Amino acid sequence: MPSDANGPIDLVTFLEQEVLPRLDRATVFADLKPVDKGAYIQCNCPQCRQPRAYIYTDGYVLTCNRLNTCGYRVSILTYVSGGTPPRGRAFVAAVRQLADLAGVPFPDRAFGPQEVIRA
Ligand SMILES: [Zn+2]
Repeated sequence: MPSDANGPIDLVTFLEQEVLPRLDRATVFADLKPVDKGAYIQCNCPQCRQPRAYIYTDGYVLTCNRLNTCGYRVSILTYVSGGTPPRGRAFVAAVRQLADLAGVPFPDRAFGPQEVIRA
């Protein structure tokens, strides 16, 4: 049985160390009319539709700034999964989609089942 010196790739580590640092947040939220504001990107809020949502260029969560009237928050992973926090195979698919957006090759090696479950 062939062995891999590095063991199965940890999907969460791959996402955090390889994909997210290279991911242009504006491509993730491209359908929300993102506007580059320097340290952050302003978007239309998916919930209240006002141009008041923002995410830092290295951030993980889009937040609506209308805290008293909306306050919507959605993570990058949940957003690309259609609004539901992805589990199992949906998580793998979401990471693959983000890797594509970031221009990072998705590893050919299979991820260990524990990574899929813990996601
Ligand atoms: Zn909102």
